[in-house]
Amino acid sequence: MSSDLLVVENLRKQFGGLKAVGGDDGLSFSVKEGSFVGLIGPNGAGKSTTFNLISGVLEPTAGRVVLAGTDLANVRSSDIASLGLGRTFQTPRAFMSLSVLDNVLVGAKSSGENLRSVLLGGWRSSEPALIEKAKAALTRVGLEDRVTETVSNLSGGELRMLEVARQLIRDPKILLLDEPTAGVDPSLQGKLSKILTDLHKEGRTLIVVEHNLHFLFSIADQIIVLQQGELLSSGTPQEIKTDPKVVAAYLGD
Ligand code: ADP
Ligand code: MG
Repeated sequence: MSSDLLVVENLRKQFGGLKAVGGDDGLSFSVKEGSFVGLIGPNGAGKSTTFNLISGVLEPTAGRVVLAGTDLANVRSSDIASLGLGRTFQTPRAFMSLSVLDNVLVGAKSSGENLRSVLLGGWRSSEPALIEKAKAALTRVGLEDRVTETVSNLSGGELRMLEVARQLIRDPKILLLDEPTAGVDPSLQGKLSKILTDLHKEGRTLIVVEHNLHFLFSIADQIIVLQQGELLSSGTPQEIKTDPKVVAAYLGD
């Protein structure tokens, strides 16, 4: 039996007069544990804002997000990751002057203490087990040959993979990925697809925002379509492809 890992209920986010997520009624959807969800919709539909609300980067105007039975309104945003939620950003965030390995080590724990010891180079001697874990995460995303590289020398695709590795070291149950193929060389998209499929196979729940529908529809088992902050449709990739509402509003343009 699979149960709901994530429940989004009547969620709304307003920026001044702009109803970015949820319109008047609020956005509601749920995600079963172990599923692979694609979140799609035109630019400005509210996809990234939805991720920001789920991950506690933004506070909702109304509604709630429940993760594994816990209402996130009662959880400090800095503690949401320790409940098993990882996310990447549409614009990758990394410490550009640090090495690939150090970036993953910073991701291991979010406290300032850890950042300080990475910057001071204290990890090498004190945390061999953590370094092994970081290297394993980098191997998972195909960056095993780039461990000592300075992040500013990575390609766009490698930077996206580094972001995933920074999340994996915390062993998230659910991963939210915002446009993972953006800026990724098309020749590497097959590799990325395999990495995401493998993460899903090992039981992780994924929600992926993606403009590349061919890529997403081939790997996701559920698609949620947003339009102007509201739920336009949801269903299997096959149902979505043939939903007249979706075809008219989104796939047709
Ligand atoms: P998507 O990721 O689907 O392209 P976003 O969630 O980024 O869409 O944006 C949804 C709407 O909210 C857009 O109209 C965007 O301009 C607006 N928006 C997003 N973030 C902010 C913000 N911090 N302040 C004001 N408006 C915002
Ligand atoms: Mg976005």
